[in-house]
Order: sequence, then structure tokens, then C-alpha cells
Amino acid sequence: MRAVTVNFESHAVEVKRVREPQAPGDDEVLFRVNQVGVCGTDREIAAVRLVLPPAGDSFLTLGHEALGQVVETGRNVSSMQPGDWVVPMVRRPCAPPCKPCAGGRMDLCASGNYVERGIVRLHGYFTEFAMDDSRFVVKVPEELVDVAILVEPLTAVEKSIEVARRAHVEYFGFDPPRALILGVGTIGILAALALSARGFDVTVCSREPRDHPRVRVLDAAGIRYIGTEETWTADIVIEAAGAAEALATGARSLARNGVMITLGSPNAAISFPFRDLIVKNQALIGSVNAAADSFHNALTDLARFDGRVLRSMIHRVAFDDFEQTLKGPLPADPKMVHVIR
Ligand code: BGC
Repeated sequence: MRAVTVNFESHAVEVKRVREPQAPGDDEVLFRVNQVGVCGTDREIAAVRLVLPPAGDSFLTLGHEALGQVVETGRNVSSMQPGDWVVPMVRRPCAPPCKPCAGGRMDLCASGNYVERGIVRLHGYFTEFAMDDSRFVVKVPEELVDVAILVEPLTAVEKSIEVARRAHVEYFGFDPPRALILGVGTIGILAALALSARGFDVTVCSREPRDHPRVRVLDAAGIRYIGTEETWTADIVIEAAGAAEALATGARSLARNGVMITLGSPNAAISFPFRDLIVKNQALIGSVNAAADSFHNALTDLARFDGRVLRSMIHRVAFDDFEQTLKGPLPADPKMVHVIR
């Protein structure tokens, strides 16, 4: 079968013939990949800035945001059947499993020896068929199939909202609590939708001009947008900008007892107001990946978000258009998705 791969020796992003998965084992699910989304991580791998091939291979099949349709299930699998739509989780446990991995919280892997499909030492889903243990595959209701490619990015948001809630949401001083999202990419928009749906007063701040297609998605959802020159105060800040400077903006905007979650900042030498963090009882939290709960919460949220807004985020292209999505200039559409079949 055909797979879109990054060759870490020649640095080429190319279609390669790889072996099709065979009949599923007792606990496995074989599915045909229908769509694959592209995000910043895929572009990093394609640029050979993230080089973690599976043992013995010098290439990696890309793709970790996937939607597929079950072809065959192993005999112990009763939760899904051929024809069902599924979204796979990304991370798999370390071996032997650390305590979080053994408890199904691979997103909190304590050893750091986890693997991730399409990112860390496991081939991904930018291909025709895939096989997974059914524990790592989430069934998608038929009515969400057209937007289910957004499940995986939304899980990052779901997890960060849960983390913030545990940190201090009950003690936010304002009702409704104010949320500031930094960045208007896929994650930023999904975070804005998720916090609006939870009754937060949401503002998104980014560098894009007001008539940018991504900002228009927010307009359609009735979400406030401000430029980086404006100042704001918020109880929860989510950095989804992919820029460390955004953290400085976030720190300036954070109210007393506020929580700031960083999802995309690279390492950088920025000055940060740690003393304010202390005297204002603020929390700064990093978050990566997500576990099964976040996948289920993402499905619940997708069902209550405005379907038109979600559909307007997605731009679908063909399997072979990967040069454009992986190497080309950053697309204006929030989410580029390859249709496999
Ligand atoms: C994925 C996560 C993954 C992270 C780091 C992100 O793009 O959505 O699932 O844990 O990259 O590899």
C-alpha cells in the first residue's frame, strides 16, 4: 500500500510502498484510513527537525490525526464492528509500562519511553490501512464523521481545560470566568469553542489581521478577537500560538489565581514574571498528548459545537498533495486534511 513518508537520510518527503497490515490479532482492529489531518508537528517532522524513526528504519510514515473505517476486528473485540468509524489515539505505553502508562495515562508517561504513531518511533496513518489494539481506538458516531478529523487536536484542548479546572477554576474571581486564547490556529479555535460552550467569556488574541479566514471562523462562532496590541485580563490563558513571546503576553494578561496552559511554545530565552506568579497565586502548566477520557470529551464537545463552524475549519485535499501541506507556506485554513479514499 502507499504511504507518505519522511526519509531521514535523503530528507525527502515521498510516497513509499509499505506492507499492508494482515489479519487482526484477537484484540486488534484493522481499519481503512479515510482522512489524515496535518499539523505543525507533521511539518516539523517533514522538515527533519523531529527525527524519531521506528527502530531499524530510516523513514517514518507520517500522520497521527486520522479517521478510519473498520474493516475487520479480532475475536475479543466487541465494542466495534466492520463499517464503524474510528479515530485512533496517538500515544502507546512504554515497556515495561510505568505507573501512568499501566493505568492508561500514556499522556503522562513517567519514563519518557512512550511511542507515538506518526511521531515517535511508530509509523503513522498517512497510508491506506492501519491496525491497532482496540484499546487505542475510539468509535465515532455516524453523525460526527464529517468533522471527526478534528477529534485529535481537540483532545489537547480537552486535557488542558481539565488540568486548569483541577488547578483552580473554582477560585477564579469572575463569573463567568474570562478566558484568553493566544493563537488562532486549529487548537486556538477549538479551545475558544470549548471554553465558550462551558460558559467562559472567551477572547482570542493573535497576529492575524481581522479579515483573515481564521478570524472569520471566530466571527461566525460569535467569539471576540483582539490584536496583539490590545491588553486583556483573563482567569485562564491558553497559549496555542507556538511562540514563546505569547507566554509573556499571557503572563501580563493573567488575573490573580489565574491558570496559564502552554500547548505550543518552543524553548526560548524570554523573561518571565515569576514573582507575579507567586504573589498572585497563578499557575503555569504545560500539557501534551491526551488519554482516552479526552477523546470521549472531544466527541461530546464536537456534537454540541456549531457544525457549520467546524466544517468551515476543514480544507480537504488529495492524498498526493502532501508537498503543499507539509512543505508549502502555512495554509490560511485552520485544518488541512488529506482524503485517502
Ligand atoms: C500530537 C500529540 C503528541 C505531540 C508530541 C502533537 O502534535 O497531537 O498527540 O503527543 O504532538 O509528539
